[in-house]
Amino acid sequence: MPVLMNASLLAVCPAEGGQGEIGSIADPALVWEGERIQWVGPAAELPAHFQALPRIDAGGGLLIPGLVDCHTHLAFAGWRADEFEERIRGVSYLEIAERGGGILQTVQKTRAASPAELAARCLHFAAGMRDLGVTTIECKSGYGLSVKDELKLLEVYAEVAERDVVTIVPTFLGAHTVPAEHRADREVYLQLIIDQLIPAVAARKLARFCDVFMERSAFSGAETRRIFAAARDHGLGVKLHADQLSDGGGAALAAEFGAVSADHLEYTSDAGIDRLREAGTVAVILPFASLYTREAPVRARRFIDRGVPVAVATDFNPGSAPSFHLPMALTLACTMSGLTPGEALKGATINAARALGLAREIGSLEVGKQADMALIDAPDVNHWLYHLRANACRRVWRKGREVSAG
Ligand SMILES: [Zn+2]
Repeated sequence: MPVLMNASLLAVCPAEGGQGEIGSIADPALVWEGERIQWVGPAAELPAHFQALPRIDAGGGLLIPGLVDCHTHLAFAGWRADEFEERIRGVSYLEIAERGGGILQTVQKTRAASPAELAARCLHFAAGMRDLGVTTIECKSGYGLSVKDELKLLEVYAEVAERDVVTIVPTFLGAHTVPAEHRADREVYLQLIIDQLIPAVAARKLARFCDVFMERSAFSGAETRRIFAAARDHGLGVKLHADQLSDGGGAALAAEFGAVSADHLEYTSDAGIDRLREAGTVAVILPFASLYTREAPVRARRFIDRGVPVAVATDFNPGSAPSFHLPMALTLACTMSGLTPGEALKGATINAARALGLAREIGSLEVGKQADMALIDAPDVNHWLYHLRANACRRVWRKGREVSAG
C-alpha cells in the first residue's frame, strides 16, 4: 500500500459539478491498496495510520486520472497517406470513395490481414497511447463488414484486452458503411447486421455497445432505428456517429434510444442538444476529424451551456484522424472548440468514462475507484495543455501498478 506525495496539484475530476470543476487539490497525498484508491486529500491531512507507508515522490508534477479515449477505430490494416495528399490538393472525399478509396480501401486490407497481425498492431498502438497517460480505450469494429471479418475484429479486441496493457471497451460498428458487395441491395446487408451479427456479438459478449454511422452517405435514420432496436433487444448499449456532415436528427435519435454517447455533432441543432441533456447522453467531440477534414469544428460551448457533458476523444482511424495523441486532441479541443483546459481534462476522464458506462469504476481520483493515474510534467492543467510536447507524461499506473515511465 503506497502513498504518492509531492505533486504540485491533483485533479480529482469528480462526476459532480460543472464541466470545468476539476476538484484541484494543492500539495496532495493519494493512498491506494491493490487496485483501489483508499484515501485522497491534502498531504497535511493525511491520517496518522498512513504516515508510515512507502512513499512515491511525484517530483512536483500534476497527477490526473488515467486518460480515457472513448472513441477509436483501433483495429485496421494499412494506412491512407496517399489520400492525405490528394485531399490537400482538393480531391473530394466522394471522388476518392468512388474509385474504391476511403473506408473501402481499409476494409479490403483489413479483411486480408490475419488476426495475429491485427492484434500486434493494436498492441503497439495501445502501448503508445498508454505512454501518453491513456489507461482505457474504446475500440470499434467496422473495417470487416462481413460476418466473418466483423467477428474477427472483435475477437482481436478480446485478445488485446486479455494482454491487459490497457482496459479495452469493444464496440460493434458493423453499420460503418455498406460494403461493396452489397451496394446494389443494402437491405441484404442490414439483415445480415440485424439477424446474424448483433445476435452473435451479444451471445459471445464480444462488444458492450453497438454503434452506427448515421449520415447521408452511410445509414439513414430509419435504418439506424432498426439496428438500435435489435441491439437493445440483445442487451447491447448504443452509441451513434451523428450529425458530422449535416443535421440529420442524429442527436435526437441517440437520445431516444438512451445512447451513452452521441459522437461528432458538428451540425447538431439546439433542439438536438436539449434532447441529449434530457436523456443524459454524453456529447463526444473529435477535434482530429475536424483538423484533417478541414471542416468547421464543433462549437462545444453550445453543449456545455445547455447542460450536456462533453467528452473529447481521438477518433483514431487511418482516414480522417490518423493520430492517437489524446493530449494533443485536448489542446485542439481548447483552441478549436472553445473548451478551457480544465473542461478538456474532464472530457478525457470522468465524462469519457461516462460515455462508456464506466463512471463508477474509472475516470476520477476518488476513494473506491480503480487506481488508474498519470503523472504529468507540468505544474497544472493549464500549463500541460498549453505547452504541447511529444509526451509530457512521466509515469502511468493502472489498477495500482506502474505500467510505464515516459
Ligand atoms: Zn469514428
